[in-house]
Amino acid sequence: MPRIDEQLYHRALRVMPGGNTRSTLFVAPHPPYAVSGKGAEVTDADGHIVIDCNNNYTALIHGHADPEILEITAAVAAGGTAFGLPTRYEVEMAELLRDRTAGIEQWRFCNSGTEAVMMLMRAARAATGRDLIIRFQGSYHGTYDGAVSLSASGVPAATKDSVIEVPQGDLAAVERALAAHPAQVAAVLIDLMPNRAGLTPADPGFVAGLRDLVRTHDVLLAVDEVITFRLEYGGLHTRYGLTPDLISLGKVIGGGFPVGAVGGSAEVLSSFNPLAAGPVAWGGTFSANPVTMAAGLCALRRFTPEAIDNLNSRGDELRGRLRDAGVPVNGSGSLIRVLLPNPAQWWDLYRAGVLAGTNGLLALSTPMTSDHLSAIADAVIGVCATTSD
Ligand code: PMP
Repeated sequence: MPRIDEQLYHRALRVMPGGNTRSTLFVAPHPPYAVSGKGAEVTDADGHIVIDCNNNYTALIHGHADPEILEITAAVAAGGTAFGLPTRYEVEMAELLRDRTAGIEQWRFCNSGTEAVMMLMRAARAATGRDLIIRFQGSYHGTYDGAVSLSASGVPAATKDSVIEVPQGDLAAVERALAAHPAQVAAVLIDLMPNRAGLTPADPGFVAGLRDLVRTHDVLLAVDEVITFRLEYGGLHTRYGLTPDLISLGKVIGGGFPVGAVGGSAEVLSSFNPLAAGPVAWGGTFSANPVTMAAGLCALRRFTPEAIDNLNSRGDELRGRLRDAGVPVNGSGSLIRVLLPNPAQWWDLYRAGVLAGTNGLLALSTPMTSDHLSAIADAVIGVCATTSD
């Protein structure tokens, strides 16, 4: 009798290309299948239990099946799961995000980080009347044609022509791009700690220089905080003393449900006002879904400055322990990137009881105990030691 995950994979192969529907989850020969999660642990289809350091790619700040989130979402869903009318939850979420970000005034909601970046780009172009967006090489901003790397397949040449890619951290390259396209650049899009580019926090000098440069050229500064929002109460940009003109969020703000959001000043987002002349029309059947909004409110209200500091220090401690043991690591606070030289080591970690991102990303969650953290450190150190032999 083949294992249950083999059976599922063979069924998947017949109905999904390569058996896959989320490229990010693929590990050769195929990933295990999750059955359930509780707190910091996940059980797979073969009954193997692992500590979840993936947390759905950083989204599950309170781990799995959080009792309070389950209770509130069950109560909200019992009153109807989706409406063709707004609900109070979206208003509360927008107020909460405004207050947390210390003044990013207005918000729009959607269903994923990808969609948030799409909407952010539309907002930037509508507000400035300009077409070009500058992005940084190696950063990931979801899968929208206009946001992916210029080397991505299937993107029309015309769309690629609307994007300029420059090396991360290269202020002179940004300056050259701006000078070469006077009054044509709508926004510079930056992730201050890009995961795919190695999870190294951006250099503060570079970020300060970028802020001055965009001001000089009257270009909007757009910060993608889909992953990094969890690192500070108001998002990672607050650590840099930045006030973004536009910001995209996702992941943690949905409390485990599908979500995305765009924030900006009332002026920059004014083109979405339905009463504006020639407004940007942007629907979304499930956007600002009340179950998602209620789950996100519950998750974020408990993710207080103290809870954030606590989780970040536990991450710093774990990173320190790994570094002391000679494991190459990057990241900041609760987000750690283990630089695994060989992608097959994902499996070594998994077999040692740790579910990481396929690129070696470890995202901590609040239900992790000291025992979990010690077990994670032992597993990572053990796997990395074995390989270097
Ligand atoms: N922006 C960043 C910085 C991301 O890390 C991601 C996803 N990991 C996205 C956008 C896209 O988010 P989603 O997967 O929810 O579409």
